[in-house]
Formats: sequence, C-alpha cells, structure tokens
Amino acid sequence: MDVMVPCGGLRHNRTVTTHADVLTDQFGRFHDYLRVSITDRCNFRCVYCMPEEGMVWQPREEILNFEEIERLARFFVERGVRKIRLTGGEPTLRKGYLNLVEVLARIPGLNQLALTTNGTRLAQDAITLRMVGLASVNVSLDTLRQDRFLEITRRNELPGVLQGIESAQAAGLETKINVVVLPGVNEDEIIHFGEFACKHSLTVRFIEFMPFLDNGWNAERVVSSAEIRSRLCDQFELRPLASGASDVAREYAINGSEGRVAFVSSVTDSFCSGCNRLRLTADGQIKSCLFLPPSVSLRDLIREGASDEELGIAVQKCLDGKWSAHPPMRNWAQRDNLTMVQIGG
Ligand code: SAM
Ligand code: SF4
Repeated sequence: MDVMVPCGGLRHNRTVTTHADVLTDQFGRFHDYLRVSITDRCNFRCVYCMPEEGMVWQPREEILNFEEIERLARFFVERGVRKIRLTGGEPTLRKGYLNLVEVLARIPGLNQLALTTNGTRLAQDAITLRMVGLASVNVSLDTLRQDRFLEITRRNELPGVLQGIESAQAAGLETKINVVVLPGVNEDEIIHFGEFACKHSLTVRFIEFMPFLDNGWNAERVVSSAEIRSRLCDQFELRPLASGASDVAREYAINGSEGRVAFVSSVTDSFCSGCNRLRLTADGQIKSCLFLPPSVSLRDLIREGASDEELGIAVQKCLDGKWSAHPPMRNWAQRDNLTMVQIGG
C-alpha cells in the first residue's frame, strides 16, 4: 500500500505517495501520460518524418514483446500514469496490436487508452478497436488533395485514410486529425482543414514542423501557430476553450459548427512547464523529453530480471535528468537526436 510522505527539493510543498514520487521530476512535474511506440516500422515515408529510402528497422528481438509492454504499462499505471497513447512508426502495422490494445485497456487505473495512426488500417479495425476498449484516435492527414498526399507521404493512400476517419467516427472513437503545416507544401489548405473540421464535427490539430534527424528542418520552414490561427480567423469565428496545464494543444471551437481547431506550438511557444509526458521507444528505452536522448533501456533491465523497485530507480534517474525546458529550437543541433519514427511521435 502507498504511504503518504513529504518529498524533498522543489517538491517540499507537495505530499505524494511513495509510488507516485517515482514519476515526479526535480521541477515538481508529475508524469501521468505515457506514450508507447510499439514499432519503428511504417508503410508511409512522410517527408517531415523519415527518408524515402535507407531506413534500417530494428530486428524483432530488440523490440519489446507484448508481455514486456504490458508489464511496463502496469508498472507505470501503478505509479500514477492515467493515459497511455500507442504510437510508432505506424502502430497498426504491429502484428496482433488489437490484442495488445485489449490487454492494456483492461489495466485497472488506466483512464484513457489512445492511438496515433496514419489511418490506413482504421477502415478495417475501427469497430474492433472501440470494442476492445480504445477511447480515441489521432489520425495524421496533411492534405486533402490526392497528388499532394503522394508528395507528402510518398504513398497513394488518401481514399483509404479518409475512409478510415469515417469508420473511426462511426465506431464512436473520439477522432482528431493531425496536420503538420509546411510552407509551400500544404499551407494553402489551412482553410480547407477548417471546413473539414466543421463538416465532420471533429478537431483538426495544426502542428508546427519540428526538427529531427535528417528531416530537412530549418526555422524558415516553420509556419507558426499564430500565423495559422490568424489565417483561420479570416474565415471562421474561433472561440478559445479551457485547457489543462499539461495540454499541448490550445483548442478553439469554430462558432456555428461542432468543429474545432487546435494548435500544437512546439517550436514557437513550448509547453515544457506543464509537461507530463514520458516516452517508451519500441526497443524499450525511456525518454523524458522528445528532444533528449533515451536514458536507459527498461527492456534490458526486464530481460536481466529487474524488480519493479529497480525499474523505479531507473525511471527516477531518467526524470532526474529532465530539463526544465528544451532550448529554443531555432538553435537546435539535430545531430544527436533520433528520427521521429525511432522515437515514436
Ligand atoms: N504513424 C503514426 C502517424 O503518422 O500518426 C504515428 C507516428 S507519427 C511519428 C506521430 C505524429 O508525429 C504524427 O501526427 C506526425 O504528423 C507527427 N510528426 C512526425 N514528424 C514530425 C515533425 N517533424 N514535426 C511535427 N510533427 C511530426
Ligand atoms: Fe509513418 Fe507516421 Fe512518420 Fe508518416 S508520420 S512516416 S505515417 S510514422
């Protein structure tokens, strides 16, 4: 049973359980949201995410198996994680992933299980996903034009993705769309995406282009959230919605519709002070920040027979190394980071 104890350092003012304390960093941020990459593979090659050729996938034995993912998920939920998002690579490519969703959704204490996907398997899997306990899905869709879809993802799958979005909504999954806005590529579709949000009564989240290894990022290629919002305001009346301290997206209702838009301003207005996220890479490394290298392999610890207490010490060490905020991205050195697909978005 957890014991209530006062904590040291900046945590003097808080009283937390010994268990939950494992997930608190030196700046008092408690981490109750875990993003789990379940594969580094993908059937797309989005230009902002990975190169067209030459990706070397990790061998199967290096990737966490489902039992290991379940053990780690239970470990984190017992310590206070309340939301888990499965991501990748493309998580729906992982064989048997529906079984994994079912197992994770049953973990007592987990309030929300979500999935981020490129949408290619949703037409087929949405109903099952809902039945086995998935609550919500974020679907990446950067253009509504077929020629452009091919240009951005290097795959010709737009109709299937649109069908997938429809199926997700019909199955009762809360459905949001992720759009990475790139200048000279899809910025002329900002209004179309606003209309898409209204027409389908869903949320479109506009994401600023972020720097990762070899993804062609430079500061001039960032269309800021402020710019995107201003263009939307020419066409729509936006009403700000209340957000929590750890919400990365600032959300707005579009007056006169059920549609919403949201802005993820990782580059121009970082949300580090309220960060509640931990990331587990497909090969079991734990990351305290998207932009910090992984600190320890929980997979290796598990395979060496580590107890939960030993895992806790490793996770705490990872959180002790978390910075208060990442440096400005305009000065970003990309060399030491991983590609987005290796991290899990
Ligand atoms: N394959 C799934 C998908 O595309 O939704 C899940 C993994 S993907 C890496 C997760 C999210 O990261 C996607 O919404 C994608 O648009 C976003 N993403 C990838 N590279 C990015 C970048 N350089 N800047 C901003 N967002 C990025
Ligand atoms: Fe694949 Fe998602 Fe990256 Fe696109 S953004 S290449 S779909 S992992």
